[in-house]
Order: sequence, then C-alpha cells, then structure tokens
Amino acid sequence: MGETHRSEARVAALTHYIGGKRVEGRSERFGDVFNPATGAVSTRVPLAGAPEVDAAVAAAKAAFPEWSETAPIKRARVLFKFKQLLDEHHDELAEIITREHGKVFSDAKGEVMRGIEIVEFACGIPNLLKTDFTDQIGGGIDNWNLRQPLGVVAGITPFNFPMMVPCWMFPIAIATGNTFVLKPSERDPSASIRLAELLKEAGLPDGVFNVVHGDKTAVDALLAHKDVEALSFVGSTPIAEYIYTEGTKHGKRVQALGGAKNHLVVMPDADLDQAVDALVGAAYGSAGERCMAISVAVAVGHIADELIERLTPRVKSLVIKNGMESDAEMGPLVTAAHRAKVEGYIEAGVKSGATLVVDGRGHEVEGHENGFFLGGTLFDNVKTDSTIYKEEIFGPVLSVVRVPDFASAVELINKHEFANGVSCYTTDGGVARAFSRQIRVGMVGINVPIPVPMAWHSFGGWKRSLFGDHHAYGEEGVRFYTRYKSVMQRWPDSIAKGAEFTMPVAK
Ligand code: NAD
Repeated sequence: MGETHRSEARVAALTHYIGGKRVEGRSERFGDVFNPATGAVSTRVPLAGAPEVDAAVAAAKAAFPEWSETAPIKRARVLFKFKQLLDEHHDELAEIITREHGKVFSDAKGEVMRGIEIVEFACGIPNLLKTDFTDQIGGGIDNWNLRQPLGVVAGITPFNFPMMVPCWMFPIAIATGNTFVLKPSERDPSASIRLAELLKEAGLPDGVFNVVHGDKTAVDALLAHKDVEALSFVGSTPIAEYIYTEGTKHGKRVQALGGAKNHLVVMPDADLDQAVDALVGAAYGSAGERCMAISVAVAVGHIADELIERLTPRVKSLVIKNGMESDAEMGPLVTAAHRAKVEGYIEAGVKSGATLVVDGRGHEVEGHENGFFLGGTLFDNVKTDSTIYKEEIFGPVLSVVRVPDFASAVELINKHEFANGVSCYTTDGGVARAFSRQIRVGMVGINVPIPVPMAWHSFGGWKRSLFGDHHAYGEEGVRFYTRYKSVMQRWPDSIAKGAEFTMPVAK
C-alpha cells in the first residue's frame, strides 16, 4: 500500500459504501492508490476507524431480518439482475482492475468472468438450500434439516483479485440470506464500490452489502465486533493465521485462505512444448501476482537442460507493457514497495548460489519510466533450503529445481509448508493417477497449469495455505455461510401418554 497520510486536497478520495450509499471517510487517515503503469497516484482511499466499521456492521445488522426472510427465489432474482449488469459492465470493471492492479486488460476480463461465474452459481440458491427430509422416522415423527443464514458476515480480501475474490464470498453469502461487510484491499479498492453500486441497481436492499475500506485498524474492528458472525479472509499466510486465531477467539466462524508456493512437475515424458507454454503463462501471467501462479518448476531427470534452454528465450522476450495495451503479456507490479520486495528476493536468490539465468531487474518500459515494472526472472539449480524456494515471492520469478525421479518430486512438494495448487505435466496415465492421489495439495492439475476450480466446485489449499474447515465457494461456500439445523416433529395424535425415561429409539 502507499504511504498513509493526513487528508490533503490532491486527488479525489474514494468513499466507503454503507447502507446503500457512498459515505465519506471520517478517520482522516488515507492511503494512496497508484496506477502501477505510470506510478502516479490515482486516488486516495479512506482508512476506516472503528466508528466507520461500526456503521457498516450496524447497516448490515439492520438489513438482516428482512433479507433473511426474503424467499430464496427472490434473492436469486436480484443476483440474476446483478449478473446481467456485470455482463453489461464487463469491460468497465476490467479497466478499473487494470488501472489499479496493473494486470493486462484481457487477464482482468478473465477475472471479471470468474467472478460472474460465482454469481451464476449463487443464482441457483433455491436448489442449493433444499435439504433432506425423512418421513416417519418412527411413531408419527418426521425429521428434516434447515440451512439458515448466520447474520452479518464480513470478507477481507487481497489486492491481486479485486473483483474475483470478493465474488468468492458475497454472492453466496447474500444468496443464503446473510448481510455482508466487505473490507477490500486498500491497494486497489475502486472495483468494490462499483460492485456495490451495481448490486443496488440490481435491486439489492440497502445495507445487505456494504464496503468499508481500511487497513489493520478496520480488520481488527471487524475481528472483535460482537455483531459479526463469520469472517472470510484471503491474503498472505501470516495475516490468514492471525485472522483465524483472533476471529475464532472471538467466537466467529472463520475461513482464512493464505499464501502459496505452487510447483509444476515436468516429467521426462511430458510434451515439452506444452509444458514450456504452461510455465511461461502460469509463472509470468499477472506478473506472478496470483495465489495459483506457478513459482517452481520441478524438472525430473534428463529433461532439465532442455527445459532451461527452451524457457530462457521465452522469458527474455515477454512483452511487458502498460496492461491497457492490447499486445501486453505482462504488466507492472502493484506498487513500488512490492517491486522492491520482489527485487530483494532476486538478490537473496543470487546470494544462495542459484543460477540467475534471466534477470528482470532494471527493466524499463518506454514512456512509462515511473511505472512499477520488473522483467521476467528465471533461476536454475535452486536449493530447497533457500529463501526463494521456501517463501512466496509473488512476482514474475520462476525457480527451477532439479530432481532425479518422480518419487523425489512428490516428496519435495509434500514437504513444503504451502499446499495451494500443483500441476504435473506427463503423458503417462499411471504417473498422472499416482500424482493426483499421492500429492498433499488442495488443488491439482494434470497437464493443467492453474487448476482453479470452477464456481460449482470449491477452492482451497491445504496446510498453511488455508486455515479453517471449509474451502471457498461452491457447495462448501453454501455450508460456510449457513448454520445446519435438524428439526424433528410430531403432532398430538401420535404422542403416547406418559413420560419416557429411556433414550428415544425408532418404534
Ligand atoms: P495481505 O495479507 O497483505 O492483505 C490481505 C488483506 O489483509 C487486505 O485486505 C489487507 O488490508 C489486510 N491486512 C494486511 N495487513 C494486515 C494486518 N497486519 N492485520 C490485519 N489485516 C491486514 O495480502 P495481499 O498482499 O493483499 O495479497 C497477496 C497475498 O494473498 C498472497 O500471499 C497470495 O498468495 C494471497 N492470496 C491467496 C489466495 C488463496 O486463495 N489462497 C488468493 C489470492 C491471494
């Protein structure tokens, strides 16, 4: 995030969105939001204090009784209309994303589409909320289940998908009858306000969806708020762990998705052209700022030299530009501070003794000299005890680790603390099957580099990539945002006289 500072009249400040309207920040703390391609400050984001968080939660609480009693089909109709508006505003939303995040426009359009797909899934909520019923469990008694909304729920989201990740949360949360407070990333906050406006235009009652911008202060206020029933978080692992620990300590249901170090195994029998294409797209797409980006290529056996030989010219020739230009393959990083952090990792990689095959530092883009650009970077012979192997870099840096065989590749990956996504390139069905069964990672791709599950499956890693019991969206999302209740019922004509002192059993 940009530096925080006292309010000054430089560029127009963004607002919160509370109770169906834009609300100005009152804390007098602001953060700079940049256009990463030019380095210029494009807006200032208000950083909420506890009173603004209180106002957002109060608006959501006030909207809950009526919204939760609204028939699921009527809630779905609002989402249908919202989906239609998202289609109409697809390009506009993608442009907002590119201008604050930096990713290329076509990639931003893909992000919008992935968000729309969750809305489409949530439109099926009447069917998803249908539950089981058992007629006559015994003696004139029936038993069924309900899935009821939790109340006010909050979402805290990262900078790298300013539309898609909020859409992992709120469409399902509100479809199931909850009311929502979103605390988006302060680095690219504008998309969330546009989503709030489109939801209102779709007919969502005021207060069902609220946006409060901010940093740790706002997050801590949500974590401790007595009226927030559940929190969904997506971001880096240290913060995810903090959110999970603090949120559960305050009695909330918490789902906290963290960071990643995703490996792509290239088996000696793989189609190398396909594997190289996959690595270039998955490591350098979105400048590596994806939680499902591939950051480690695991070269098995003799394939390593040829893999490096083929990757090198591809990394050197990446088309790096302002993401709004149609031929751009990779845009800038989100902030200068983040670029400096990634450059620090490159330095650490060199010191660790890894071979720096392509060095992206000092990459300049003509006409955009102040943009936060960094070239694609490639390391070979990366050691597994080095920082660049162990930590998430979140930039356009691919590390190649050489291993002798399949078993060592599986062992290597299974030892890593992160376990978000993984991929294996092979033409051998037996290897593919063994890989998907033996690997201890939440999302697996076989000849698929970025296996992000579709909206009706669910997204989540294992180990230190996810804290909590549910994966995000899909049916897991419906479970997360509802409380399960079992109802048992009988009527007087089936009730036997007299108290029973034995454990009730079916008669
Ligand atoms: P981040 O952890 O810095 O920020 C995420 C959110 O937490 C933001 O809303 C931020 O305001 C808030 N936050 C930051 N510091 C905080 C603090 N000290 N206390 C409380 N809240 C705080 O993450 P980021 O840099 O915005 O996003 C990149 C990270 O997100 C990467 O680690 C990436 O892997 C991860 N990510 C994970 C997934 C996933 O599904 N597992 C998806 C997308 C991104």
